[in-house]
Amino acid sequence: MRTMKAMVLEKPGKLVLKRIPVPTIGDEEVLIKVRYCGICGSDWGSYNGKYADEVACLPLVTGHEFWGIVEEVGRNVQKIRPGDRVAVDICITCGTCYHCRRGEPLLCSSFQQIGIHVDGAYAEYVKAPWKNCYVVPDTVDDYSAAFIEPLTTTINASRKMNCELGSSVVVIGAGLGIIHAVMAKLRGASPVIVIDSQPARLEMAKRVSADFVIDISKTPDAVAEVMRLTGGVGADYVIEAVGRSQTYEQAFRMLRRGGKLEAFGICSDDDFMKVPPVQFVIHEKKVGGSCAGIGHDWEVAIDLLKYGRIDPRPLISMVVPLEELEIALKELHENKDLVKVLVCPDLSERIVL
Ligand SMILES: [Zn+2]
Ligand SMILES: [Zn+2]
Repeated sequence: MRTMKAMVLEKPGKLVLKRIPVPTIGDEEVLIKVRYCGICGSDWGSYNGKYADEVACLPLVTGHEFWGIVEEVGRNVQKIRPGDRVAVDICITCGTCYHCRRGEPLLCSSFQQIGIHVDGAYAEYVKAPWKNCYVVPDTVDDYSAAFIEPLTTTINASRKMNCELGSSVVVIGAGLGIIHAVMAKLRGASPVIVIDSQPARLEMAKRVSADFVIDISKTPDAVAEVMRLTGGVGADYVIEAVGRSQTYEQAFRMLRRGGKLEAFGICSDDDFMKVPPVQFVIHEKKVGGSCAGIGHDWEVAIDLLKYGRIDPRPLISMVVPLEELEIALKELHENKDLVKVLVCPDLSERIVL
């Protein structure tokens, strides 16, 4: 039996480098040799057992922000050939439940994601249904291709938020939040305001997308600052891209009357936010959210990269070998100057960019 190296999350806090069998593909699946897999903020949560639905899936090979080269295709596979560079829509939906039939696949009652609920790409190989694969053109470079999955999540959120020319948009959190800000700017939002506590991240936000940044280590009352920057009105849209109840509460307070909170940061199941419901009624504040990109979002992400509408490379801080995944997870948690770290199974020594 062919084996491969993989980082297996055996239980919360226990990530083990192992040799395990190379996935066996079905007739509708392809086998992909992983080139790069980005470390997601949610991987830290998964590693620590923050999400109950994921803990239920352990042991598991995690890693969901990946692309690779197709090595083998199943008997019924169409359009995808060995040698293709592919990014993979990680969402697996049933297609037949109430939500799928209504065109709400992200709400599928048996929703699963590759690298979150089924084996993912912190390994030399990963398998995926061919219908989830999108060919990445050569004009999209290797590092940027690893950004397709996170990009799709911001595209889906941006589509749901649907901000217009001249809308004021606040993004709380300058990790993937920087990309939310880019997306808002592409839609003509003005001003775009990014909030974080890390000067290096805010510097980057300013360089790539933000009109204003608020450093909460220096300006603790971010709500007052947003009010000031929006002429006392509040923001049309606030995207929470941190995943903490306190920042969700702040986000709600920054909204103008009639404004909309776009929920993106993932909290634990036992985190709660306190909001006065009267503001839904009297102030017509709204809340929406989404957890992932799906389907066509992949084509949009590839096009945005292909036509240079977004350049994610400044956000990529380093590339590490698969064996360094656990160290990198901890480094990402502790060193907030790191934004995106990619894992590469073929690499023997880390590359700091
Ligand atoms: Zn992710
Ligand atoms: Zn379904």
